[in-house]
Amino acid sequence: MGRGGLLGFLLRVRPGLVLGRLGVLVLLLLPALAGADYMDHFAQRDDVGPRKAPSLGDARLLLIPVEVKGFPPLDRARLERFFSPDDENGFVRYYEVASLGRYRPRVTVGPTIGYDACPLPAAQFPTCSVARGDINAFAAGIDLLREAVRKTDEAGVDFTAFDVNGRAGVADRWADGVMFLTNVPFGGIAFPFAYFNRGDNLSGGTSGPLVVDGVRIGHFAVAGDADVFVMVHEFGHLLGLTDLYDEAGNYGGLQLSVMGAWSYDPKIVLPDAETRWRLRWANWVQVQGRQRLTLKPVETSGEVARVGIGDQYFLVENRGPGAFDRHLPVRGLAVFHVDRDVRSVTTQGSFPKLGAKEGDFVNRILDCVNCDAWHPYVRLVQADGAFDLENNRRFNAADDLFLPGDFILSDPSSSVRSKTNPVNATNFYSGQPSGFALNDVRLLDDGSIEVTLDAPASGQCEERLCPEGEACAPVRCGEAPRTGCAALPTGPLGLLGLLLLEQGLRRRQRLGL
Ligand SMILES: [Zn+2]
Repeated sequence: MGRGGLLGFLLRVRPGLVLGRLGVLVLLLLPALAGADYMDHFAQRDDVGPRKAPSLGDARLLLIPVEVKGFPPLDRARLERFFSPDDENGFVRYYEVASLGRYRPRVTVGPTIGYDACPLPAAQFPTCSVARGDINAFAAGIDLLREAVRKTDEAGVDFTAFDVNGRAGVADRWADGVMFLTNVPFGGIAFPFAYFNRGDNLSGGTSGPLVVDGVRIGHFAVAGDADVFVMVHEFGHLLGLTDLYDEAGNYGGLQLSVMGAWSYDPKIVLPDAETRWRLRWANWVQVQGRQRLTLKPVETSGEVARVGIGDQYFLVENRGPGAFDRHLPVRGLAVFHVDRDVRSVTTQGSFPKLGAKEGDFVNRILDCVNCDAWHPYVRLVQADGAFDLENNRRFNAADDLFLPGDFILSDPSSSVRSKTNPVNATNFYSGQPSGFALNDVRLLDDGSIEVTLDAPASGQCEERLCPEGEACAPVRCGEAPRTGCAALPTGPLGLLGLLLLEQGLRRRQRLGL
């Protein structure tokens, strides 16, 4: 894990709650952290196991319920239901739908670990509630997590059952994912236990991951107040995702994202297109030149159209009320402007400007990658051009999604967009035109959306997300090769092509093909 990851671990702020930079203060108190790229949106892909939970294939997760007397008791029946595949609005279905069935978790709700009194030191936690970012909670929290795992093991749970997956898709002696749900007042945290542990590892050793039945546990997703919806978000961190809300509270952060401005209500929000694409849960359509596309609802198709390559690009997907996203009253195209090269804009004075090399993503997280509303890592481009979100006003799907009649083009003046120059255009953050345009939106009866997208005319098809495997490459790029006379090429070369095509057809006829 890395420093940036730590910030995310320490803080989980409900949108609108101002927390300030307490997390940064805590970071300063800790030794320099070795390793990097936990919670990095897959800047690194080779750290599944020690730093990330596997996010493709079958996985066996363990939920440890921890109940403290004096607080509202856990409703086990409700937990069992929410974490079972039968709950259409539950955890398992959420991740299956979000991943297009590529990630298939099954959750075992472990035996309830009971405490007669608050297990945290009374002197520091008189009401057993943990304030967000409270550094005292660290040491106490580590002990509590260790004890809960020990008790779960002693209750007869076989931890080898929770390792069926890993970086290579098979058991790797790292747990596929462990969650800790308690009824005491506590927000949520994704906790890099192995990094902080200096004590017992439950296997005769000290420090590092817990080792139970030979299976290592390096991190936990933790939620308090028995809040299962918070757990959906925290577990996203274990899958490698960073926070995309605004930790500073100047605006809500990224809309249409489980890691963003969702308020943890029962209407669970699907992942944003960048998250889906990075996790290899998308069917990636790379646009080249001008293309008329039909994008089916993302929750059933996984279709994400990408315009542009490199570190700065646009992603377009079809979002609307379906299995999830039920807060959306309409269906439309969500357009995300992604900049993987977001740099730390340090206002603290205590940090130098940090680099933003790929693989060094944590340094961006350190300064809260989505906190600059005008230049975040992932920005929702709004159709109405009113910049309501950047100005901390409400998201309104009917205005902010691209519906019939909406379009967006480049700004020929190449000015730099800002609060004082709010130009709704497809230009890069530098002001340079990106070549992206979106026109002629048409909503079809089956929920699909037709749209004309413009992208650079060539050189768009070679990029890969990963060396091999599903969703590492676009499912298609550019126009499919046309046949017959549907497209009449023009110009001398086009005529030559037509002649060759005709000759080819004749030859095929002669050969009886
Ligand atoms: Zn979070």
